[in-house]
Parts: sequence; structure tokens; C-alpha cells
Amino acid sequence: MPNAKAYAAASAASPLASTTIARRDPAANDVQIEILFCGICHSDLHQVRNEWKEVMPTVYPCVPGHEIVGRVTKVGSAVKKFKVGDLAGVGCMVDSDGTCPECKQGLEQFCANFVLTYNFPDKHLGGVTYGGYSDSIVVDEKFVLRIPASLSLAGAAPLLCAGITTYSPLHHWGVGRGKKVGIVGLGGLGHMGVKFAHAMGAHVVLFTTSPGKKEDALRLGADEVVVSRNADEMNKHAGSFDFILDAVSANHDINAYIVLLGRDGNLTLVGAPDKPLQVAAFNLIMGRRSLSGSPIGGIAETQEMLDFCGKHNITADVEVIPIQKVNEAYDRLVKQDVKYRFSIDMASLKG
Ligand code: NAP
Ligand code: ZN
Repeated sequence: MPNAKAYAAASAASPLASTTIARRDPAANDVQIEILFCGICHSDLHQVRNEWKEVMPTVYPCVPGHEIVGRVTKVGSAVKKFKVGDLAGVGCMVDSDGTCPECKQGLEQFCANFVLTYNFPDKHLGGVTYGGYSDSIVVDEKFVLRIPASLSLAGAAPLLCAGITTYSPLHHWGVGRGKKVGIVGLGGLGHMGVKFAHAMGAHVVLFTTSPGKKEDALRLGADEVVVSRNADEMNKHAGSFDFILDAVSANHDINAYIVLLGRDGNLTLVGAPDKPLQVAAFNLIMGRRSLSGSPIGGIAETQEMLDFCGKHNITADVEVIPIQKVNEAYDRLVKQDVKYRFSIDMASLKG
């Protein structure tokens, strides 16, 4: 029986529109959450418009949203971590097999049987999972995160994807004091990358195609800002970076950044453009540079990131919108026009 309000896309060409969906009754290990805020990730847009059809074709209707914060309204009989009234967060995953070597190491993001928060087979109700553009969700407590009470909820929501997706590779690649770190693209992920790299003590250089974002980047924690369309500005940094995090959502020339790495430097892609990117082999060979990617982060590391944010008072800079403005927000996202994450106030779904 449909028992939750939501916004869904009926096809790749349809705008998101109001609908109702079914949520399961909480089983023994489940937590039921009233969703208060949900961030808009560019992945939501890629998925809704079926831009990733080669890798993850979209099943319609699609209810996106994986940057969820809310309040616990019901818990199953075996739930230990949460009680009714607690703040709770849900990110990109809602389940995994729990038995594979990856899960055993707390690296559920590499589990071959993980279940993403939307557009993945739903073993409880059939069909596919439905995400956070909704008034409620039911999730196994293993995949529910604690939200530090000191953080603004609208700004905390994007931590569940944009936060962990940037924190995890920065951490993995040893970013800290004495390291020169580049962040490419000042969007939802990029602005969190700047905040984290700065908080970790690195020298941070932000690369942007939008000259108008320069002042903001400095305010957010960048030590330097480079407008990437300016070849002279780019050349000044040749061979000098320890690490570069690329958070660009569209096709672009990654060779222009690989040549900025020093010996053994690494460029990690978190941005996921739909078309393959070209790599010039010599740019990697000379300097023994490496190129890698990184998906979100495990549940334990997501909690570590949230606790780090609580300690350092880090949240996303958000534009809070009612759900009725979600289609307009998508159009602005494509135009690189968001400062720096949309966060949907789910109270707007009640009307
Ligand atoms: P976003 O807010 O739209 O930011 C993307 C930024 O990329 C823009 O603000 C812009 O920055 C830059 N950009 C956009 N189009 C460009 C172009 N044609 N050429 C050069 N730069 C361009 O997106 P987001 O939510 O941060 O997501 C970024 C990407 O990460 C998406 O592809 C998303 O699907 C992916 N993602 C991956 C993971 C993962 O686990 N790996 C998780 C979440 C999201 P400037 O204006 O500063 O140039
Ligand atoms: Zn996301």
C-alpha cells in the first residue's frame, strides 16, 4: 500500500512530480525515519535523466535522493543504536551482504552485493529502492548514521554523499599538513573537498571554470584559486601537486591536471561524466603519476566523517528549497549555478 509522499521522474524526459510510494513496516533491525532535509546530488540528475544508461540504467518511476537527514519515528525490536526522536542520516547505501571480505573490513562501498538507496533491486518490496525525495524511509540500522546535534540539519544532509565522497579519498591519499592539494570544480562535492582539505591542514588550490566563484573559494578555505581556462595560470603549477581530486560532472580534459602532479602524485576522479575521458599515457609515465577513482565511503568512515564535521563545525553551504522547485534546481545545476548544494526542506512535501 502506498504510504509515503515522494517526488519521482516517470521517464528520462519527465520532470520530477508528486506521487505516493510504498515503504515497508520496520522489521526487527529497521529504523523508520521522517525525512527533514535531502540534498540534491548531481548523481540524482545523471540518474533521473538516464545519463549513466551504460553502467546503471534507470528504472522508472525513479525517486532519487541519497543525502538524507531526519528524525527516527519508529524502531524494530532488535535496534540498538537508535531510539524514537533521535536524529539520523542515510547516504548512498541501504544494505550489503555483510559477509564478503569488503564488508568485513567496513568497506561496504566495494561489496558486490550492496544496495544503493535508489534505483537498486528492493528485496523487501520488489521493484527498486526509492530515495530521499520523500517524507519517510525505512533502513536497516547498520546503514543509518548518527548526526552530531550541533550541526545545521539542512547543511548536514549533503555530508551523507558529497561529504563522504570527498573525505574518503582525501584521507586515503594522505592529505594533511605539508601537502599541496588541488580540488577541481566548485560544486557540491568540490566545495566539501575544499573545506576538508583545508581542515586537514593541506595547502589547497581550487580549479574552477567559473571566475565568479573565486571569492567564495577563498572564503571556503582555498589558499589559491586557478581559473582553469587560463593556460598561463595553469602552467605556473606544473609538476607541483601531491594530490588532485577531480569532482567535475561533465566531460573535460584531465590531462591538463595530470601534468600538474609531481612525482608519484595521484589524481582521483570522483566526478562521474557519462562519456569516457581520454588519458595521454606519457603524462602518467613521466613522473610515475597515477590516476584512480573513488566511490563514496564505508559506513564506519561515514560516521568518522560526520564526527569530524561535528568537531570542526563543517557543513555544506546550502540553498534550501521547497520540493516544488526541484526541477528548476536541476536546470541550475547543469548551468553550474548553485552555492553550493541544494537542500530540499521536506516540510514542503506536507502541503
Ligand atoms: P555539481 O554540484 O554540479 O558540481 C560540478 C562542478 O563541476 C560544477 O560546479 C563546475 O565547477 C564543474 N563543471 C561542470 N561542468 C563542467 C564542464 N563542462 N567543464 C568543466 N567543469 C565543469 O555536481 P556534484 O554533485 O558535486 O557532483 C560532481 C560529480 O561527482 C557528478 O558527476 C556526480 O555524479 C559525481 N559523484 C560521484 C560520487 C562518487 O561516489 N564518486 C558521489 C557523488 C557524486 P566550476 O564552476 O567550479 O568549474
Ligand atoms: Zn551523491
